[in-house]
Amino acid sequence: MSTKIPKFVCRNGEIVPSDEATVSVFNPAVFSAFGVYETLLVWDDVIFHPAEHLNRLWRSAIAIGLPFPWGAEEIVVWLSQVKEANEFHRGRLKVIVIGPPPGEDSPLCFSWPWPEMEIPERAYEAGVSTITFKATRFMPQAKTMNTLPNLMAKNAARASNAHEALLVNFREEITEGATSNFFAVREGKLLHAPENEILTGVTMSLVLEMAKRLGIPVEETPLPADQIESWDETFITSTSRKVLPVTSIDGKPVGDGKVGEITQALMAEFEREFEAYIQAHKEGDESGS
Ligand code: PMP
Repeated sequence: MSTKIPKFVCRNGEIVPSDEATVSVFNPAVFSAFGVYETLLVWDDVIFHPAEHLNRLWRSAIAIGLPFPWGAEEIVVWLSQVKEANEFHRGRLKVIVIGPPPGEDSPLCFSWPWPEMEIPERAYEAGVSTITFKATRFMPQAKTMNTLPNLMAKNAARASNAHEALLVNFREEITEGATSNFFAVREGKLLHAPENEILTGVTMSLVLEMAKRLGIPVEETPLPADQIESWDETFITSTSRKVLPVTSIDGKPVGDGKVGEITQALMAEFEREFEAYIQAHKEGDESGS
């Protein structure tokens, strides 16, 4: 069994040993991916922006017609409980809502701790390499269990020794990463794909607010893959990575192949805000956003 498997899982508010956290083969999540999920970051016992993640979980459920009978506060309590039961202080929390099981009306909510994504410091200093991968996510604004395109893209990245795969749609435009949002910088302007074609990341939203405060102009625009050479900088964002520079796509350097100025400014600002958030929530109200 993977060492990542935690001792305890929370099932609809009840802490159970992880080998009891099972799902029937008849659950519609198995055959039809009828479910939604979130990944949250925990640092020094503080959950980073839980309200935003749980709001997106709820919106994703509504989008696919999955009943969602709980309030965000209730799920935050469950997350704290499963964190404590596993004596978990840093890393990620996974939450899935699936079902309902056959013959039942209520869905199942499972949550559990998961280790941090291991990213060497050097990746933030020198940037990572990526590949492009032809795939389109179904209902991209919802974070559903229909993650086959993400999985295949991630496998392709791994096979090429790349950190991430960038999804390319049928119009040959880069939309987002397999598990991240994608940004490009051209002539001082921050570019990102149209939001109706991507998952609006919690990290992405924070980065867009920071860009505004730092006076960096932002444009929501298609990002044709044949324009990669016109970009000076690129980076990806996600809960697990924060802001991570991308210095190569499909084996070719982006810009001069070094981490650019705007990427550096946003990385530094994100780190500052992250630290401030964790400090502010350490002994206080963890349920706040
Ligand atoms: N797009 C996709 C397809 C993802 O899986 C993720 C990871 N949740 C993101 C974007 C980034 O979202 P967030 O910043 O909320 O982690």
